[in-house]
Amino acid sequence: MPHTEPRAASTEAGPSLRHTRRSLLLIAGLMLSLFLVASATLVVIAFQQNHAALEHSRQYAARAIDSQLRALETVVSDYAFWGDAYRHLHVTVDTGWAYERQNMGPSLYEDFGYEGLLVIGPDDTTTYAVIRGALTDLSAERWLGQGLDGVLALARAQYEAEEPVSVIHNMNGQPVLVGAAPLTVGSDPTVTPMRGGTSVVLFVSIMSPEKLLQIGRDLGVDGLRVADQGASNERAWLDLDTQGPSIALTWDPARPGEQLLYVMLPLLLLTGILCAGLALAILQRAFNTARDVDASYASLSASQAALAISEARFRDVAEASSDWIWETDSDLQITYLSDRFAKVTGHLRKDWLGRPITDFLRCPANLASWLNGQIGRTPGGDTWQCYYMSRDGRRRVCMVSLRYIEESPLAGGYRGTARDITDEVEARARIEHLSQHDSLTGLPNRNRLQQFLDGRLKDTAAENEPLAMLSIDLDRFKPVNDTFGHHAGDLVLTEVANRLRSCLRDGDLVARLGGDEFILIVSGLATQDEIARLCARLIDSVERVIEYRGQRVFISASIGVAMAPMDATDPAELLRYADIALYEAKGAGRKTWCFYASDMNERILQRNQLERDLRQAIKDQTLHIVMQPRYHVESGRMVAAETLVRWYHPVRGQLGPDLFIPIAEETGLIHPLSTWILRSACEEAVAWKNDVRVSVNLSPSEFRRGDLVARVHDILRETGLEPHRLELEVTENVMLEDAERALEVMLQLKALGVRLAMDDFGTGYSSLSYLSNFPFDGLKIDRAFIAGLGDSASSQAIVEAVIALGSALDLTITAEGVETSEQLEQLRRLGCFEAQGYHLDRPMHLKDLRKMMVPVQSIGESN
Ligand code: C2E
Ligand code: CA
Ligand code: CA
Repeated sequence: MPHTEPRAASTEAGPSLRHTRRSLLLIAGLMLSLFLVASATLVVIAFQQNHAALEHSRQYAARAIDSQLRALETVVSDYAFWGDAYRHLHVTVDTGWAYERQNMGPSLYEDFGYEGLLVIGPDDTTTYAVIRGALTDLSAERWLGQGLDGVLALARAQYEAEEPVSVIHNMNGQPVLVGAAPLTVGSDPTVTPMRGGTSVVLFVSIMSPEKLLQIGRDLGVDGLRVADQGASNERAWLDLDTQGPSIALTWDPARPGEQLLYVMLPLLLLTGILCAGLALAILQRAFNTARDVDASYASLSASQAALAISEARFRDVAEASSDWIWETDSDLQITYLSDRFAKVTGHLRKDWLGRPITDFLRCPANLASWLNGQIGRTPGGDTWQCYYMSRDGRRRVCMVSLRYIEESPLAGGYRGTARDITDEVEARARIEHLSQHDSLTGLPNRNRLQQFLDGRLKDTAAENEPLAMLSIDLDRFKPVNDTFGHHAGDLVLTEVANRLRSCLRDGDLVARLGGDEFILIVSGLATQDEIARLCARLIDSVERVIEYRGQRVFISASIGVAMAPMDATDPAELLRYADIALYEAKGAGRKTWCFYASDMNERILQRNQLERDLRQAIKDQTLHIVMQPRYHVESGRMVAAETLVRWYHPVRGQLGPDLFIPIAEETGLIHPLSTWILRSACEEAVAWKNDVRVSVNLSPSEFRRGDLVARVHDILRETGLEPHRLELEVTENVMLEDAERALEVMLQLKALGVRLAMDDFGTGYSSLSYLSNFPFDGLKIDRAFIAGLGDSASSQAIVEAVIALGSALDLTITAEGVETSEQLEQLRRLGCFEAQGYHLDRPMHLKDLRKMMVPVQSIGESN
């Protein structure tokens, strides 16, 4: 499913930051422009002010000069248009009046600073000259260094109008102000104006640097001075209207603009800096805010992207997993089902939306109350195994999880998943079944039995309902397996399993523990009689003939019964007791049942003690052998002696082989014991120095162990007994257990040259068939048949038949357990070759037997 990945969170500025940065840059730009404009304006204002101030100062400078000129004109007017002066200075000069009497004398210089006071006669000669307060003959032209024609003319032109004039002269680069006026009688009527030309009065004020400074200062023009002609670019510049070479003034104009700048610029700068700082701070804040906004915007978009991913992921997961997802409202009505629902269940979503989820899911307890119990609980808690019916009608198992929805708008509802685990559950059930059942018969195995017992024994203890455990062992099963093959054995076991099961009720259990051992757990039977009837029924059922490929197979069973809680309540103990009872039943002749009794346990304990003692006895060689002679019936000659083992137990006294040989066989002690017996017997027979045979009984288990042939061979060689003098007695059981192997071992033994006899003939299973197939030399008819010779016709018939068969097969027939002369007589009549029994000889100590060995004994002479 396509979905877009969100762009990775970029390190670039976010839009808000960018926007803010732009805005703030704009504002900063505006502020800077404003600042610049303000500064520029300030500068312009300052410049204008400077300019205005300059202009003002220029006017003041001009006015200063002008006022000097006006003052000069005034003072010259005062003296020139004055009758007395006319009288005393025109044409003839009265220096006494003018100079000495101070009418126009040195005081004008001393008090008013006029450097020159000159009177120029009508003929342009200087008639009166006071220079710097001193009367002098110096002509005006000489003093001033230039002609005065211009000013004189101007002044004389004003004779009628009586107006003064003034000019500025350049005297060696120094401006010299000259006020001039024609000398007239003025308003004095006592003086009559003369004819013949006009005298001119000149007042001269030299604009010395000091005077210039002073007059400038008076009018607020600082530093007024004569300008250097080279520096004509001076802004403070005033060209004087001079007679002769031009002259200009300059000064230090006030620069209010600069002051303004000095004052305002720092202020403006400071303000600028403050503003900049403020702006920076605001900027920073704005940036931060913008960044925050961006960050939150970024995180917002990131979370939106994450949400998108999470949704996509959810969809993918929802579709990829076998889970389907559901939601309900608070009334448990289904409000949502994921797409998987349809695929997994086969149902259409629309068919279930709006219906209660409890209609769909069947859970072990009330789903509704479970769901309601979820309120306020942390999610991810419980899961339940529930069931539903798929659209095709199959019962499906699913694991349901849920949580309570707290987020609006679905708050109050529930959400969960359902995972189909049908296959898992079935597989688990299969495995469970396999692990708990026997693969051959399908019966519960030991594991299941254990579980069943654990449960039932607890119930039993609680309810006080008795429980019977039946331990069943098949009799003669092994030969079936060996004779007909494993397939037949399997079939028999399966058939037996079915038969056992058919005898029980539903709540009971039949388990197979392996081999031909079965355990039945039966409840509801109160009395021993009821259980006994069941046992009889079971045995009957097992004994019914089983057909296998046209052959009839017979089998039986022995049963040991233990009861709970009477005998035990512990499973292991109960099993052990049932086994003890079974052992007892087998010991009691098989095809029967035995209830456990506490003395059985005692016997078992005793048996275990016996086993320990036997082990010790074999080690200590405290066992011994006796021998029972066997006689030729016709001649009464001793032909052989059977070796029988005895044990004198330190506590229990003399013990017969029937008591301890089975224990030796079960525990494997039979091997060392048998080797010892065989060696002892052979050694003894060698000592006889005649040809009487010695026979030794072998146990079936010795045929199972591979070393029998070698053992016999070694003992014969060690003892030096001729092999034909040794006879080995074996029972049918040897053939029943493993006929092939038994035959092989027998053939090897035969190859050693020893004789083989079949012992206890007639008690076995299918005796006759073995006789022709196995390499026997002799056959011993079981003493049970001999005992019945007198009164049982069938016994006699069997003995007769066996003797006849033996003859036919060229076997030496021995009758065992001959206890009476009648029996012996009868055997003789029937043509039995050899006889053995208490009537002839009891088993005897070796030294006693040895005594009998020298003469050849006859039957008649014995006993
Ligand atoms: P079996 O091989 O049938 O041995 C003969 C048993 O019959 C002997 O019992 C013997 O004492 C007893 N017997 C002999 N004559 C008479 C009689 O007239 N009447 C009666 N009622 N019994 C008679 P025993 O010695 O108790 O041996 C019992 C069984 O123990 C033997 O039966 C044999 O199967 C086994 N057995 C004895 N010694 C050995 C042995 O060294 N090795 C092995 N593997 N088994 C042995
Ligand atoms: Ca025997
Ligand atoms: Ca026997």
